Amino acid sequence: MPLFLPHFNLQKFNTLAVPSLAQYFVSVKTDDELREALAFARTENLPLLLLGGGSNIVLRADFPGLVVQIKSQGREVVDENEEFVWLKVAAGENWHQLVVFSLDNALYGLENLSLIPGSVGAAPIQNIGAYGVEIKELVAELSALNIRSGLSVTFTNESCQFGYRDSIFKQSLKDQYVITSVTFRLRKQPHLNLTYPALRAALANTLEEDITPQQVSAAVIDIRQTKLPDPAVIPNVGSFFKNPVINQQQFDALKAENPTIVSYPAAANQVKLAAGWLIDQAGWKGREVGGAAVHEQQALVLTNPRKSSGQAVLALADLIKQSVFEQFGVMLEMEPRIYP
Ligand SMILES: Cc1cc2nc3c(=O)[nH]c(=O)nc-3n(C[C@H](O)[C@H](O)[C@H](O)COP(=O)(O)OP(=O)(O)OC[C@H]3O[C@@H](n4cnc5c(N)ncnc54)[C@H](O)[C@@H]3O)c2cc1C
Repeated sequence: MPLFLPHFNLQKFNTLAVPSLAQYFVSVKTDDELREALAFARTENLPLLLLGGGSNIVLRADFPGLVVQIKSQGREVVDENEEFVWLKVAAGENWHQLVVFSLDNALYGLENLSLIPGSVGAAPIQNIGAYGVEIKELVAELSALNIRSGLSVTFTNESCQFGYRDSIFKQSLKDQYVITSVTFRLRKQPHLNLTYPALRAALANTLEEDITPQQVSAAVIDIRQTKLPDPAVIPNVGSFFKNPVINQQQFDALKAENPTIVSYPAAANQVKLAAGWLIDQAGWKGREVGGAAVHEQQALVLTNPRKSSGQAVLALADLIKQSVFEQFGVMLEMEPRIYP
Protein backbone atom coordinates (compact mmCIF):
# COMPACT_ATOMS: atom_id res chain seq x y z
CA MET A 1 0.00 0.00 0.00
CA PRO A 2 1.61 3.32 -1.02
CA LEU A 3 1.86 6.00 1.66
CA PHE A 4 -0.72 8.78 1.41
CA LEU A 5 0.79 11.90 2.99
CA PRO A 6 -1.66 14.63 4.12
CA HIS A 7 -0.96 18.42 3.93
CA PHE A 8 2.05 17.90 1.70
CA ASN A 9 4.13 20.90 0.63
CA LEU A 10 4.64 20.88 -3.16
CA GLN A 11 7.16 23.72 -3.32
CA LYS A 12 10.07 21.38 -4.11
CA PHE A 13 7.92 19.41 -6.55
CA ASN A 14 7.24 22.20 -9.05
CA THR A 15 10.06 23.98 -10.88
CA LEU A 16 8.38 27.39 -10.37
CA ALA A 17 8.93 26.74 -6.62
CA VAL A 18 5.43 27.98 -5.89
CA PRO A 19 4.31 27.20 -2.34
CA SER A 20 1.20 25.02 -2.39
CA LEU A 21 -0.20 22.36 -0.06
CA ALA A 22 -1.67 19.15 -1.44
CA GLN A 23 -4.51 17.67 0.59
CA TYR A 24 -2.80 14.29 -0.06
CA PHE A 25 0.39 13.29 -1.85
CA VAL A 26 1.46 9.82 -2.90
CA SER A 27 4.48 8.59 -4.84
CA VAL A 28 3.87 5.45 -6.93
CA LYS A 29 6.49 3.14 -8.44
CA THR A 30 4.35 0.37 -9.96
CA ASP A 31 1.09 0.03 -11.88
CA ASP A 32 -0.44 -1.71 -8.85
CA GLU A 33 0.45 1.24 -6.60
CA LEU A 34 -0.95 3.57 -9.22
CA ARG A 35 -4.23 1.60 -9.27
CA GLU A 36 -4.40 1.83 -5.46
CA ALA A 37 -3.83 5.58 -5.61
CA LEU A 38 -6.59 5.97 -8.22
CA ALA A 39 -8.93 3.83 -6.10
CA PHE A 40 -8.20 6.01 -3.05
CA ALA A 41 -9.03 9.16 -5.03
CA ARG A 42 -12.27 7.55 -6.25
CA THR A 43 -13.34 6.40 -2.78
CA GLU A 44 -12.54 9.73 -1.16
CA ASN A 45 -13.93 11.66 -4.14
CA LEU A 46 -10.69 13.61 -4.54
CA PRO A 47 -9.61 15.56 -7.63
CA LEU A 48 -6.37 14.21 -9.10
CA LEU A 49 -3.14 15.85 -10.13
CA LEU A 50 -0.69 13.55 -11.92
CA LEU A 51 2.82 14.76 -11.35
CA GLY A 52 6.09 14.04 -13.10
CA GLY A 53 8.87 16.57 -12.56
CA GLY A 54 6.47 19.51 -12.06
CA SER A 55 8.21 21.47 -14.83
CA ASN A 56 5.09 22.34 -16.81
CA ILE A 57 2.49 23.26 -14.20
CA VAL A 58 1.46 26.38 -12.31
CA LEU A 59 -0.04 25.81 -8.86
CA ARG A 60 -2.31 28.79 -8.36
CA ALA A 61 -3.41 27.74 -4.83
CA ASP A 62 -3.38 24.74 -2.50
CA PHE A 63 -4.50 21.55 -4.24
CA PRO A 64 -7.69 20.16 -2.68
CA GLY A 65 -7.17 16.58 -3.79
CA LEU A 66 -4.63 13.82 -4.35
CA VAL A 67 -1.30 14.51 -6.06
CA VAL A 68 0.10 11.30 -7.57
CA GLN A 69 3.79 11.48 -8.35
CA ILE A 70 4.71 8.92 -11.03
CA LYS A 71 8.07 7.36 -10.15
CA SER A 72 8.02 4.07 -12.11
CA GLN A 73 11.41 3.06 -13.50
CA GLY A 74 12.59 0.76 -16.28
CA ARG A 75 13.77 0.60 -19.88
CA GLU A 76 13.43 -2.45 -22.07
CA VAL A 77 14.15 -3.25 -25.72
CA VAL A 78 10.91 -4.80 -26.96
CA ASP A 79 11.74 -5.23 -30.65
CA GLU A 80 14.34 -4.47 -33.27
CA ASN A 81 15.09 -4.84 -36.96
CA GLU A 82 18.05 -3.84 -39.10
CA GLU A 83 17.24 -0.16 -38.88
CA PHE A 84 15.38 0.44 -35.62
CA VAL A 85 15.14 -0.50 -31.95
CA TRP A 86 11.87 -0.22 -30.05
CA LEU A 87 12.63 0.90 -26.50
CA LYS A 88 9.85 0.81 -23.89
CA VAL A 89 10.44 3.25 -21.06
CA ALA A 90 8.52 3.62 -17.78
CA ALA A 91 6.69 6.92 -17.29
CA GLY A 92 8.61 7.87 -14.14
CA GLU A 93 12.03 7.84 -15.81
CA ASN A 94 13.76 11.19 -16.10
CA TRP A 95 13.66 12.53 -19.67
CA HIS A 96 17.24 13.73 -19.96
CA GLN A 97 18.59 10.52 -18.38
CA LEU A 98 16.77 8.65 -21.16
CA VAL A 99 18.48 10.81 -23.79
CA VAL A 100 21.89 10.09 -22.19
CA PHE A 101 21.08 6.36 -21.97
CA SER A 102 20.05 6.24 -25.65
CA LEU A 103 23.29 7.87 -26.79
CA ASP A 104 25.39 5.64 -24.53
CA ASN A 105 23.73 2.65 -26.18
CA ALA A 106 24.08 3.89 -29.77
CA LEU A 107 20.35 4.54 -30.19
CA TYR A 108 19.62 7.73 -32.07
CA GLY A 109 16.88 10.29 -32.54
CA LEU A 110 16.51 11.88 -29.11
CA GLU A 111 19.69 13.99 -29.23
CA ASN A 112 18.01 17.31 -30.14
CA LEU A 113 15.75 16.90 -27.09
CA SER A 114 18.62 16.85 -24.58
CA LEU A 115 18.20 18.58 -21.23
CA ILE A 116 14.43 19.10 -21.38
CA PRO A 117 13.34 18.78 -17.74
CA GLY A 118 10.68 16.36 -16.59
CA SER A 119 9.58 12.77 -16.91
CA VAL A 120 9.08 10.39 -19.84
CA GLY A 121 5.36 10.01 -19.04
CA ALA A 122 4.67 13.74 -19.33
CA ALA A 123 6.61 14.13 -22.59
CA PRO A 124 3.79 12.97 -24.93
CA ILE A 125 1.21 15.15 -23.16
CA GLN A 126 2.43 18.26 -24.93
CA ASN A 127 4.52 16.50 -27.59
CA ILE A 128 7.74 18.04 -26.28
CA GLY A 129 9.92 19.59 -28.90
CA ALA A 130 13.15 21.52 -29.31
CA TYR A 131 15.75 22.37 -31.94
CA GLY A 132 13.73 21.05 -34.88
CA VAL A 133 12.52 17.74 -33.37
CA GLU A 134 9.29 16.75 -31.62
CA ILE A 135 8.74 13.44 -29.87
CA LYS A 136 5.86 12.63 -32.20
CA GLU A 137 8.60 11.61 -34.66
CA LEU A 138 9.94 9.04 -32.18
CA VAL A 139 6.96 7.65 -30.25
CA ALA A 140 5.83 4.29 -31.62
CA GLU A 141 3.08 3.78 -29.05
CA LEU A 142 2.33 4.33 -25.39
CA SER A 143 0.50 2.56 -22.60
CA ALA A 144 -1.94 4.36 -20.35
CA LEU A 145 -4.36 3.51 -17.55
CA ASN A 146 -7.91 4.74 -17.82
CA ILE A 147 -8.44 6.72 -14.60
CA ARG A 148 -12.08 5.72 -14.23
CA SER A 149 -11.95 2.05 -15.18
CA GLY A 150 -8.34 1.24 -14.25
CA LEU A 151 -7.97 -0.59 -17.58
CA SER A 152 -4.72 -0.42 -19.53
CA VAL A 153 -4.94 0.86 -23.10
CA THR A 154 -2.37 1.10 -25.91
CA PHE A 155 -2.29 4.29 -27.97
CA THR A 156 -0.58 4.19 -31.36
CA ASN A 157 1.33 7.26 -32.49
CA GLU A 158 -1.59 8.23 -34.70
CA SER A 159 -4.18 7.88 -31.95
CA CYS A 160 -2.18 10.29 -29.75
CA GLN A 161 -3.14 13.06 -32.25
CA PHE A 162 0.10 14.93 -31.70
CA GLY A 163 0.28 18.58 -32.72
CA TYR A 164 2.42 21.58 -31.83
CA ARG A 165 2.76 21.32 -28.01
CA ASP A 166 -0.41 19.32 -28.12
CA SER A 167 -1.89 15.81 -28.05
CA ILE A 168 -5.22 14.09 -27.46
CA PHE A 169 -4.29 14.05 -23.73
CA LYS A 170 -4.65 17.84 -23.64
CA GLN A 171 -7.83 17.76 -25.72
CA SER A 172 -10.67 15.22 -25.82
CA LEU A 173 -8.95 12.80 -23.38
CA LYS A 174 -7.78 15.48 -20.94
CA ASP A 175 -7.54 14.12 -17.36
CA GLN A 176 -8.77 10.69 -18.43
CA TYR A 177 -5.54 8.66 -18.66
CA VAL A 178 -2.30 8.13 -16.78
CA ILE A 179 0.55 7.37 -19.16
CA THR A 180 2.45 4.42 -17.71
CA SER A 181 5.10 3.80 -20.40
CA VAL A 182 6.21 5.12 -23.76
CA THR A 183 7.74 3.00 -26.54
CA PHE A 184 10.20 4.89 -28.73
CA ARG A 185 11.38 3.81 -32.18
CA LEU A 186 15.05 4.77 -32.24
CA ARG A 187 17.55 4.42 -35.06
CA LYS A 188 20.63 2.22 -35.02
CA GLN A 189 22.42 4.62 -37.37
CA PRO A 190 22.59 8.40 -36.79
CA HIS A 191 20.11 10.43 -38.82
CA LEU A 192 20.76 13.98 -37.71
CA ASN A 193 18.34 16.87 -37.79
CA LEU A 194 20.35 20.09 -38.11
CA THR A 195 17.55 22.22 -39.53
CA TYR A 196 17.44 24.54 -36.54
CA PRO A 197 19.69 27.47 -37.47
CA ALA A 198 21.18 28.06 -33.99
CA LEU A 199 22.10 24.38 -33.75
CA ARG A 200 23.83 24.27 -37.15
CA ALA A 201 25.62 27.53 -36.26
CA ALA A 202 26.88 26.00 -33.01
CA LEU A 203 28.40 23.15 -35.04
CA ALA A 204 29.66 25.36 -37.86
CA ASN A 205 33.27 24.26 -37.36
CA THR A 206 32.50 20.66 -38.24
CA LEU A 207 31.62 19.26 -41.67
CA GLU A 208 28.03 18.02 -41.70
CA GLU A 209 29.07 14.42 -42.50
CA ASP A 210 31.44 14.39 -39.51
CA ILE A 211 28.94 15.58 -36.89
CA THR A 212 27.94 12.91 -34.37
CA PRO A 213 24.70 12.65 -32.34
CA GLN A 214 26.82 13.11 -29.21
CA GLN A 215 28.06 16.45 -30.61
CA VAL A 216 24.49 17.47 -31.38
CA SER A 217 23.46 16.65 -27.82
CA ALA A 218 26.43 18.58 -26.40
CA ALA A 219 25.64 21.58 -28.61
CA VAL A 220 21.97 21.53 -27.57
CA ILE A 221 22.98 21.35 -23.90
CA ASP A 222 25.37 24.23 -24.40
CA ILE A 223 22.79 26.44 -26.15
CA ARG A 224 20.14 25.64 -23.54
CA GLN A 225 22.48 26.39 -20.64
CA THR A 226 23.40 29.75 -22.17
CA LYS A 227 19.84 30.73 -23.10
CA LEU A 228 17.57 29.30 -20.43
CA PRO A 229 17.67 29.82 -16.66
CA ASP A 230 18.30 26.66 -14.62
CA PRO A 231 15.09 26.10 -12.60
CA ALA A 232 17.21 24.94 -9.64
CA VAL A 233 18.70 28.45 -9.51
CA ILE A 234 15.91 30.66 -10.89
CA PRO A 235 12.53 28.93 -10.66
CA ASN A 236 10.72 28.72 -14.04
CA VAL A 237 8.76 26.39 -16.32
CA GLY A 238 10.62 27.10 -19.57
CA SER A 239 8.52 28.75 -22.27
CA PHE A 240 5.47 30.21 -20.59
CA PHE A 241 3.52 30.82 -23.81
CA LYS A 242 3.12 28.86 -27.04
CA ASN A 243 4.29 30.49 -30.23
CA PRO A 244 1.01 31.77 -31.71
CA VAL A 245 -0.05 30.55 -35.14
CA ILE A 246 -1.96 33.09 -37.25
CA ASN A 247 -3.21 33.16 -40.83
CA GLN A 248 -1.19 34.60 -43.70
CA GLN A 249 -3.48 37.60 -44.14
CA GLN A 250 -3.16 38.62 -40.48
CA PHE A 251 0.58 38.08 -40.73
CA ASP A 252 0.92 40.27 -43.82
CA ALA A 253 -0.85 43.11 -42.00
CA LEU A 254 1.39 42.69 -38.92
CA LYS A 255 4.52 42.53 -41.07
CA ALA A 256 3.57 45.77 -42.82
CA GLU A 257 3.48 47.53 -39.46
CA ASN A 258 6.37 45.58 -37.87
CA PRO A 259 8.92 44.80 -40.60
CA THR A 260 11.30 43.03 -38.17
CA ILE A 261 8.65 40.64 -36.80
CA VAL A 262 10.08 37.15 -36.20
CA SER A 263 8.16 34.29 -37.80
CA TYR A 264 8.50 30.65 -38.82
CA PRO A 265 6.73 28.67 -41.53
CA ALA A 266 3.69 26.70 -40.36
CA ALA A 267 0.91 24.76 -42.11
CA ALA A 268 -0.50 26.02 -45.42
CA ASN A 269 -1.68 29.63 -45.23
CA GLN A 270 -0.46 29.88 -41.62
CA VAL A 271 2.51 31.54 -39.94
CA LYS A 272 3.99 30.87 -36.51
CA LEU A 273 5.12 33.95 -34.59
CA ALA A 274 7.84 34.06 -31.95
CA ALA A 275 5.95 34.76 -28.71
CA GLY A 276 9.25 35.87 -27.12
CA TRP A 277 9.69 38.59 -29.75
CA LEU A 278 6.14 39.90 -29.20
CA ILE A 279 6.67 40.01 -25.41
CA ASP A 280 10.05 41.69 -25.82
CA GLN A 281 8.61 44.31 -28.20
CA ALA A 282 5.80 44.99 -25.74
CA GLY A 283 8.54 46.04 -23.31
CA TRP A 284 8.40 43.16 -20.82
CA LYS A 285 11.89 41.70 -20.96
CA GLY A 286 13.56 41.86 -17.54
CA ARG A 287 10.55 43.40 -15.76
CA GLU A 288 9.37 42.18 -12.35
CA VAL A 289 5.82 42.55 -11.04
CA GLY A 290 4.64 41.29 -7.65
CA GLY A 291 7.61 38.93 -7.22
CA ALA A 292 7.30 37.28 -10.64
CA ALA A 293 9.55 38.34 -13.51
CA VAL A 294 10.26 38.12 -17.23
CA HIS A 295 13.70 36.64 -17.83
CA GLU A 296 16.31 39.14 -18.94
CA GLN A 297 17.73 37.06 -21.81
CA GLN A 298 14.60 35.22 -22.93
CA ALA A 299 11.26 37.07 -22.76
CA LEU A 300 9.32 33.86 -23.31
CA VAL A 301 10.40 32.59 -19.89
CA LEU A 302 8.64 33.86 -16.78
CA THR A 303 10.58 33.33 -13.58
CA ASN A 304 9.71 33.25 -9.92
CA PRO A 305 12.92 34.51 -8.28
CA ARG A 306 11.27 35.20 -4.91
CA LYS A 307 9.34 31.93 -4.85
CA SER A 308 6.11 33.92 -4.85
CA SER A 309 2.65 32.44 -5.24
CA GLY A 310 1.27 30.97 -8.44
CA GLN A 311 -1.22 33.85 -8.39
CA ALA A 312 1.67 36.32 -8.74
CA VAL A 313 3.04 34.46 -11.77
CA LEU A 314 -0.40 34.23 -13.37
CA ALA A 315 -1.11 37.92 -12.70
CA LEU A 316 2.08 38.81 -14.59
CA ALA A 317 1.14 36.41 -17.39
CA ASP A 318 -2.25 38.14 -17.70
CA LEU A 319 -0.65 41.58 -17.92
CA ILE A 320 1.65 40.32 -20.67
CA LYS A 321 -1.20 38.70 -22.61
CA GLN A 322 -3.22 41.90 -22.40
CA SER A 323 -0.41 44.17 -23.57
CA VAL A 324 0.64 41.86 -26.44
CA PHE A 325 -3.00 41.72 -27.55
CA GLU A 326 -3.33 45.51 -27.39
CA GLN A 327 -0.15 46.04 -29.39
CA PHE A 328 -0.36 43.24 -31.96
CA GLY A 329 -3.94 41.89 -31.83
CA VAL A 330 -2.51 38.43 -31.07
CA MET A 331 -3.75 36.43 -28.08
CA LEU A 332 -1.02 34.43 -26.37
CA GLU A 333 -1.86 30.98 -25.03
CA MET A 334 -0.17 29.60 -21.93
CA GLU A 335 1.91 26.45 -22.30
CA PRO A 336 1.92 25.07 -18.70
CA ARG A 337 -1.26 23.74 -17.12
CA ILE A 338 -2.80 25.53 -14.15
CA TYR A 339 -3.94 23.65 -11.01
CA PRO A 340 -6.32 23.58 -9.25
C1 LIG B 1 13.95 25.18 -18.09
C2 LIG B 1 12.84 24.47 -18.84
C3 LIG B 1 12.98 24.24 -20.20
C4 LIG B 1 11.98 23.58 -20.90
N1 LIG B 1 12.16 23.36 -22.24
C5 LIG B 1 11.21 22.72 -22.95
C6 LIG B 1 11.41 22.48 -24.35
O1 LIG B 1 12.43 22.80 -24.93
N2 LIG B 1 10.42 21.85 -25.03
C7 LIG B 1 9.27 21.45 -24.42
O2 LIG B 1 8.42 20.90 -25.11
N3 LIG B 1 9.06 21.66 -23.09
C8 LIG B 1 10.00 22.28 -22.36
N4 LIG B 1 9.80 22.51 -21.01
C9 LIG B 1 8.54 22.09 -20.39
C10 LIG B 1 8.61 20.72 -19.66
O3 LIG B 1 9.94 20.36 -19.43
C11 LIG B 1 7.94 19.62 -20.46
O4 LIG B 1 6.60 19.94 -20.72
C12 LIG B 1 7.97 18.26 -19.72
O5 LIG B 1 7.48 17.25 -20.56
C13 LIG B 1 7.17 18.28 -18.43
O6 LIG B 1 7.47 17.10 -17.73
P1 LIG B 1 7.14 16.95 -16.20
O7 LIG B 1 7.36 15.52 -15.84
O8 LIG B 1 7.85 17.96 -15.40
O9 LIG B 1 5.57 17.25 -16.22
P2 LIG B 1 4.68 17.90 -15.07
O10 LIG B 1 4.92 19.36 -14.98
O11 LIG B 1 4.82 17.11 -13.81
O12 LIG B 1 3.24 17.66 -15.70
C14 LIG B 1 2.85 18.34 -16.87
C15 LIG B 1 1.46 17.86 -17.28
O13 LIG B 1 1.51 16.47 -17.64
C16 LIG B 1 0.65 15.70 -16.80
N5 LIG B 1 1.33 14.43 -16.54
C17 LIG B 1 2.56 14.26 -15.98
N6 LIG B 1 2.88 12.95 -15.96
C18 LIG B 1 1.83 12.29 -16.52
C19 LIG B 1 1.56 10.91 -16.80
N7 LIG B 1 2.43 9.94 -16.52
N8 LIG B 1 0.37 10.61 -17.38
C20 LIG B 1 -0.54 11.57 -17.68
N9 LIG B 1 -0.33 12.88 -17.46
C21 LIG B 1 0.84 13.23 -16.88
C22 LIG B 1 0.46 16.54 -15.56
O14 LIG B 1 -0.74 16.20 -14.88
C23 LIG B 1 0.45 17.94 -16.14
O15 LIG B 1 -0.80 18.24 -16.70
C24 LIG B 1 10.79 23.16 -20.25
C25 LIG B 1 10.66 23.39 -18.87
C26 LIG B 1 11.67 24.03 -18.17
C27 LIG B 1 11.53 24.25 -16.68
